[in-house]
Amino acid sequence: QVTRKFRDEPKPRFGLLRSREFYMKDMYSFDTSPEAAQHSYHLVSGAYCSLFQRLGLPFVKVSAATGSIGGTVSHEFQVPAEIGEDRLVLCPHGHFAANVETLREELSSCPACGTKLTQTRGIEVGHTFYLGTKYSSVCKAVFYSPENKPQLAEMGCYGLGVSRILAAAVEVLSVEDSIRWPSLITPYQLCFIPPKKGSKEEEEEGAVLLEQLYDSLSQALPHLAGDSVLDDRTQLTIGKRLKDAQKLGYPYVVIAGKKVCEDPPIFEVWQQNTGEVLFLTKEGVIELLSKVQI
Ligand SMILES: [Zn+2]
Repeated sequence: QVTRKFRDEPKPRFGLLRSREFYMKDMYSFDTSPEAAQHSYHLVSGAYCSLFQRLGLPFVKVSAATGSIGGTVSHEFQVPAEIGEDRLVLCPHGHFAANVETLREELSSCPACGTKLTQTRGIEVGHTFYLGTKYSSVCKAVFYSPENKPQLAEMGCYGLGVSRILAAAVEVLSVEDSIRWPSLITPYQLCFIPPKKGSKEEEEEGAVLLEQLYDSLSQALPHLAGDSVLDDRTQLTIGKRLKDAQKLGYPYVVIAGKKVCEDPPIFEVWQQNTGEVLFLTKEGVIELLSKVQI
């Protein structure tokens, strides 16, 4: 389940990274044997890894302290970042990764290959715990075996910080003066910028041509239709609106600029995540956007 949580956080900070209200995904697993429970644990950890990969977020899975939750095995999913509150040690070859909290003594080289460990800070975005029977024994969470004997359920507990993933993604992917979003969670994929009121491009039907582009796009790629914003503040120059669009980080900005008066009309497309600017016909824009995953 994904729900809103409230925590009496003594030091809320870093915007959404540490706040008193946040969204979290929670999950518990109940199995009939330790082997089955470990299998569930691996399935969920694997799903978390592929989630972060699909988001395009750099992350490390580190062994973690079980803390107040308890249990025997625990991993954190950490996004390396300067402002992170956790300290991590990593083998550069990927053999070993741990939250410093878990180490009983200073560890300077990888237990597997002996390479010097590197230190980094991380933002915790997910946590998994193998709980065993710690809670099922207290709460008497039993099931009946085929021999009709009551047995304690083997449990696991899993969490993803939904609002924190958003904040961490913005933190690590963005550049100096503008936001960068993972394509899968960007609020909008596209921003359309029609010509300025009273400009030559407006007289030459630039706004109408842009609207026709949007209509064709909605037909060809209906999943993008609701993922688009029209910046119709046409009292502002295109340049001013483009600046705003760059700050907000729409992955694609489609502009009816000077070349919209050509035959066929050419649209200017800013691909923010790569920094490229393309000049494309209507068909070219649709072709480009057909590759977008949402
Ligand atoms: Zn190593």
